[in-house]
Amino acid sequence: MKQASPKVIVVGGGHAGCEAAYASARMGVETLLITLKASTIGTMSCNPAIGGLGKGHLVREIDALGGLMGLAADRSGIQFRLLNRRKGPAVQGPRTQSDRTHYKATVQRILHDQSNLSIIEGEVTDVIVNDGRVTGVVLSDDTTIQSRAVVLTTGTFLGGKIFVGDQVTASGRMGEAPSIPLAQRLRSLHLPTGRLKTGTPPRLVKSSINWDVLELQKADDEPTVFSYLSHGPTLPQIACGITHTNDRTHALIEENLQKSAMYGGHIDGIGPRYCPSIEDKVLRFADKPSHQIFLEPEGLDSELVYPNGISTSLPLDIQEQFIASIAGLEQSVIAQPGYAVEYDFIDPRALSSDLQVKSLPGLYLAGQINGTTGYEEAAAQGLVAGTNAALVGQQAFVLRRDQAYIGVMIDDLVTRGVTEPYRMFTSRAEYRLSLRADNADQRLTDVGVDFGLVSEQRRIAYQRKQQKLDKGRALLKALVATPQQARACGIQINLDGQRRTAMQLLAFPEVTVTDLSALWGELMTLDPYIAEQLRRDAIYATYIERQNKDAQALQRDEARVIPASFDYDAIGGLSNELRYKLKQVCPTTLAQAGRIEGMTPAALALLLVHLRKHDKSAA
Ligand code: FAD
Repeated sequence: MKQASPKVIVVGGGHAGCEAAYASARMGVETLLITLKASTIGTMSCNPAIGGLGKGHLVREIDALGGLMGLAADRSGIQFRLLNRRKGPAVQGPRTQSDRTHYKATVQRILHDQSNLSIIEGEVTDVIVNDGRVTGVVLSDDTTIQSRAVVLTTGTFLGGKIFVGDQVTASGRMGEAPSIPLAQRLRSLHLPTGRLKTGTPPRLVKSSINWDVLELQKADDEPTVFSYLSHGPTLPQIACGITHTNDRTHALIEENLQKSAMYGGHIDGIGPRYCPSIEDKVLRFADKPSHQIFLEPEGLDSELVYPNGISTSLPLDIQEQFIASIAGLEQSVIAQPGYAVEYDFIDPRALSSDLQVKSLPGLYLAGQINGTTGYEEAAAQGLVAGTNAALVGQQAFVLRRDQAYIGVMIDDLVTRGVTEPYRMFTSRAEYRLSLRADNADQRLTDVGVDFGLVSEQRRIAYQRKQQKLDKGRALLKALVATPQQARACGIQINLDGQRRTAMQLLAFPEVTVTDLSALWGELMTLDPYIAEQLRRDAIYATYIERQNKDAQALQRDEARVIPASFDYDAIGGLSNELRYKLKQVCPTTLAQAGRIEGMTPAALALLLVHLRKHDKSAA
C-alpha cells in the first residue's frame, strides 16, 4: 500500500520527534509524524521534570527558536526552582517538576494545532534507499511512504530490552514493545551501532509514604519559567519531600549486588556516569554514609511519587526491602518496579553537523539514538534535525559553539562521539559567560526568524523587548556619576576619581537599577524585567569582552576550512591514532579538528602548517 507523500517524515513521538516534527511543520513543510502509539506522544519516560543545570539552558534555547518544550514545561510545571540561585546567572539552571499528564497533553495539543503536520500510528520497519539516498519509510503492514527526508528519533526502543533483576523483557519502555526490525535494518545499512543503558527508579504510592517525618522542599516564591512567551506558572505549586539512604539501605544493596541486572552480567551497554543507579552510588562512593532522595509527586492528582536518586535494576523483592529501610518509606508500596533499559544507538560521528547521516543523505537522527540521555538533549537535537530535514538541499541550520549550548552538544557528538550516554553540563561550553539561560532569545530568536522557525507573535514580542533593552542600555550608558555620587547611593566604590556610567555601576556586586534610581530618577521608568536583564548583561560585559576576544581568535581558526580531500597521510609526525581519528571524523574546520578527543596542540600546529601549504599550492 502507498500513502500520500509528505516532504518530511519524523519517526518517533518522544521529545526529539515532537520538536523535529514541530520545527519542520513550522517552516511550512508538509510533515508526517509516525509513532508506535499516538497516545504516548510527549511521554516523560523517566523523571517528571524539565530543565536543571545545563539542561535548562537547552530548554531556553529551544524556546528562543520557537520550539515547544519550554511552553509545555511552563503549562505543566508544579514546582519551579532556579538551581544555583546564589551563583552567577551563567550557571543558574531553571528547572521544574511537571505534572506528567499535563505535560503530555500540552505537547499533544500543540502538535495537534500545528498546520502542515499529520500524525499516524505505525511501526517503521525499514527506510527506503534509492541511489544512496533515503527517500521514505516502510511500515510493518508494508505501507510505503515516500518523502524528501526522514528523521529517526527512536529513543530507547531500538533493540530495547528492560531488566528487573534477572528478568529480561524485550521492550522499549515499561509496557511498550521494542523496535526490532528497524534496529536490524540499520545494522544492515552498516551504520556504526553500539549498546547503551539507562535506568529508572521504582514509583511509590503517595498515600503509603509517611510525609510527616520528611523535610519538605518548596517551590521558589518567585518562579522562573522557561518560555519567553510565558508570564508565570499556570498550575498550583507543590512541595516535594526529602529523605536519605542509610547504612542499612547500603548493606542491603551491597549484599544483593549480584542480583542487579547491571552487576549480574546481564547488561553489556554502558550507563550514564552522571546519572548513576543506586547500585553504582553505593559502590563508587562507598565512603558516603547516605544519599539524598527527592520524593517528587508525579502530578497534582497523581497517586504516584518518583523517588529521584535511586534508579535501580535489582529484583523487586530487594527493591522493596531497601526502600523500606529509608525514613518515611517504611510502609511505602511500590506501584511500578525500577528497571534498566538497554538499547542500540548509532555512533554520532557518523553524522554531519546538520545531524544527517554522512553515508545516507536524506536520513537524519536525533535524540537518544545518537547516544545522548535526557529529554532536553533529545528535544534540542530534534529541533535541529527537523529544521535541516525541512531544508534539504538548502543551506543547513547549524549553530556554533559560541552561539548556543545546542551548538556545543552537536559539535561534541559529531566530532567526539560518546563513550557513555551524553548529557549537557555548563562545563562543556567554553563560552558559558555569554551562553546564559537568561539571554537565549538575544542569541537565537533572530536566527529562528531567518529560518522560519519563529511565529509572528514571538517575533513581535522579541522585537518589542529588544527595543526596550536597546533604549535602557543607551540610557544606562549615557548617565555618568563620580565615585562620590555613587557612594552617596550606597555603592561601595574606591574614591579613584574615575567617572563611571550607570551601566558600569550596575556591574558592581548587589547593585540594582533601583539603587541607581536614587541618583537618576528616570531609571524608575525602566520595566523591572528589562532592568534585571540589563543588570545581568552589565555584570558579564567586561568578562564577555575578554571571552569574545578569545572567541574571535578561535573563529579565525574556525574560518580555516579543511577540504574534504585533505590528505592526512601526507602529514609526517602525526601519531597513527590521531591520523585515524582525523580520517574518521573528517573535520571541516581546524577548530573542529582541535576538539577531537586526544588532539594535542603540537599535532594541531602540524595540521595547520600542512593546511597552509595545501592552501598555497591550491591558490
Ligand atoms: P523517546 O522519548 O524514547 O521516544 C522514542 C519514540 O520513538 C517513542 O514515541 C516511540 O514510540 C517511537 N518509536 C520507536 N521506534 C519506532 C518505530 N520503529 N516506529 C515508530 N515509532 C517508533 N533521561 C535522563 O536524563 N535521565 C535518566 O535518568 C533517564 N532514565 C531513563 C530511564 C528509562 C527507563 C528510560 C526509558 C529513559 C530514561 N531517560 C533518562 C531517557 C529519556 O527518557 C530520554 O532521554 C528521552 O525520552 C529521549 O527522547 P527521545 O525522543 O530520543 O526518545
